[in-house]
Amino acid sequence: MTELTRLKGVGKKTEELFARLGITSCEDLLHAYPVGYEAYGEPTGAGGVTVGAPCAVRARLTSRPSVFTTARRTTVTSLTIRDETGSLRITWFNMPYIRSQLTPGREVVFYGTVSRGKSGIVMDHPAVYTPEAYAEKIRTLVPRYALTKGLTNNAFSKAVREALSVVTGEAEYLPVSFLRLHGLMGEREAVREIHFPEDTERLTLARSRLAFDEFFQFILGLRLLKRQETELPSDAVMKPAWETELIMERLPYTLTVSQKRAWHEIEKDMCSGHRMTRLLQGDVGSGKTILAFLAMALCAENGAQCALMAPTEVLARQHYKNLKRLIDDGIITGVRPVLLTGSLKTAERREVEEAIRSGSANAVLGTHALFQEAVAYRNLALVITDEQHRFGVNQRRFFGEKGCDVHTLVMSATPIPRTMSVVFYGDMAVSILDDMPKARLPIKTCVVEDSYRPTAHAFIAREVRAGHQAYVVCPMIEASEEFEAQNVIDYAASLKKALPDCRIGILHGRQKPEEKEAVMQAFADNALSILVATTVVEVGVDVPNATVILIENAERFGLAQLHQLRGRVGRGSAQSYCIYMTGMSNETIRERLDILNRSRDGMTIAAHDLKLRGPGDLLGLRQSGEAAFRIADIFRDEAVMKAAAETAAAVIRDDPDLISPEYQDLRCRMERYLGEEKSLTL
Ligand code: ADP
Ligand code: MG
Repeated sequence: MTELTRLKGVGKKTEELFARLGITSCEDLLHAYPVGYEAYGEPTGAGGVTVGAPCAVRARLTSRPSVFTTARRTTVTSLTIRDETGSLRITWFNMPYIRSQLTPGREVVFYGTVSRGKSGIVMDHPAVYTPEAYAEKIRTLVPRYALTKGLTNNAFSKAVREALSVVTGEAEYLPVSFLRLHGLMGEREAVREIHFPEDTERLTLARSRLAFDEFFQFILGLRLLKRQETELPSDAVMKPAWETELIMERLPYTLTVSQKRAWHEIEKDMCSGHRMTRLLQGDVGSGKTILAFLAMALCAENGAQCALMAPTEVLARQHYKNLKRLIDDGIITGVRPVLLTGSLKTAERREVEEAIRSGSANAVLGTHALFQEAVAYRNLALVITDEQHRFGVNQRRFFGEKGCDVHTLVMSATPIPRTMSVVFYGDMAVSILDDMPKARLPIKTCVVEDSYRPTAHAFIAREVRAGHQAYVVCPMIEASEEFEAQNVIDYAASLKKALPDCRIGILHGRQKPEEKEAVMQAFADNALSILVATTVVEVGVDVPNATVILIENAERFGLAQLHQLRGRVGRGSAQSYCIYMTGMSNETIRERLDILNRSRDGMTIAAHDLKLRGPGDLLGLRQSGEAAFRIADIFRDEAVMKAAAETAAAVIRDDPDLISPEYQDLRCRMERYLGEEKSLTL
């Protein structure tokens, strides 16, 4: 790893700014791909600009700019250009030397963002080009990065350019034959192109190569680990138990048809003499948890231990509470659960670990992280992961390392198309919950423009007064000069002013895990009534009391994701509402969002999403730290994924231990990949 301060122009201060974005080395920097690109448009006349967007304006200079110094010692250089289309004011701060470039009679192109200030519209700090230099620019794409306050896009981009020359890089790790077979660009070239694309075609190629890498490493990683797992013998054979039938009878509701079917599949697996590896897939709210509890009860009846892992501590606690309640109500018997969380005090923790060791506890609920530590089980026979829509290579490894031969049940809410679940989950059996429990009212959904925002806030305030809670989702964490999109920090601050009576909390991917847990817990306890968050709420809490979700800049998200987000509400008995708000509205965007109005089926929505997101949409808006596939998209990059899957399969067939000389670089890369603690979020 190369230190960032090795880069020209990067000192301690800039290093800290990068650290806030999770970038701590030059290598990290090279893999911090742009979140979007900007094309230089054809220059317009002075009156042809669009407020809020970067514009190019052509002008013949007629007078010298004026330069003056403000009371705060800022030098302002300003110029007004006029032509038959209108006029435009242009200013620069502390750049008096720009004056020398602006001699009357010259023809220039100004390129910058236009905003509406106190004294009308103004273009601040534009770059100045000769018409010829600008004509050259028109063909290039400018990368846009996820930024943090104090770090400009320009500084980011410069640092990347430096890093490209400082990190002389590793050799290509894929054998040339693979590159040829799939028409892949070299890795190093792809990294350069993704940052500084020569043109759209090359950018597309670069993107494919990097997406290929992500899929390939993930799939090959799974295959490499899987081989180790399946070599283990199987002896956790169970007998069906009456108790599970009784639980179903005692429940206040009857299981849906698909829940019953899934339960029989799970039961059959566990009693078959083979080891269960089953994926239980069902939309949010389809009732996966009760099936997990039934499996846990079956395990307990057979005198064995089971574990349930959740992606967050809050969720683990929630599962524990729900299970406890079913036990206290006499609905479930024989299960003796403990909760294993990071916030346990040492003494408590020791007690819990002892209960697990002795077997006095036969069900352990906790987070993934905790299960990776050394906890000794007496006779663990079943591991359930409630991953919502997360899964990770390393989480699977856990089973192997424990050296125990356990049944595994993975619960997921991602509507992964069947072809892809085969790739990702290998030969895992799949049970699908495709009908919803009846009791639920459908969520009322609407798509509105941002002029509706005050009404939406008033609506939220009313729901809160009625004792309910609300989510607000923004695409960005903090303000960015580069993107016109709502951000959590500023939004929460202004919402606090607008709704002073509401207790408002924030949640985003850059908070420390403890901080996130505390916020989610407060929201779960109704100590906060409104949660302003990024999409991290997707894997957040189950708060049945939340009845509204307002999603800002809905046009920025994929439909599948918008659908997932909607699933955060409508979990209780009260009527719930989902408001998709668009900052920018046109026919295509409305048409796209309207699908959500009409459909409640995750799979249908995902398929539409794929069709409607055109190839022009090269990269969605992503902020660092939240998405684990940086570039690859399971819906859009199906072809790339298939190629990666085939390649991984070929490698395993050809040389499963990666010992041949041509695989040495690949082997190193995979060792590094599997060594990193990875949890992929789709
Ligand atoms: P998810 O699949 O998203 O994990 P949950 O398991 O949390 O969904 O279930 C959501 C809610 O639906 C829970 O409150 C649960 O008690 C309830 N539920 C589950 N199955 C049924 C059913 N068959 N009929 C009515 N309610 C059900
Ligand atoms: Mg769940």
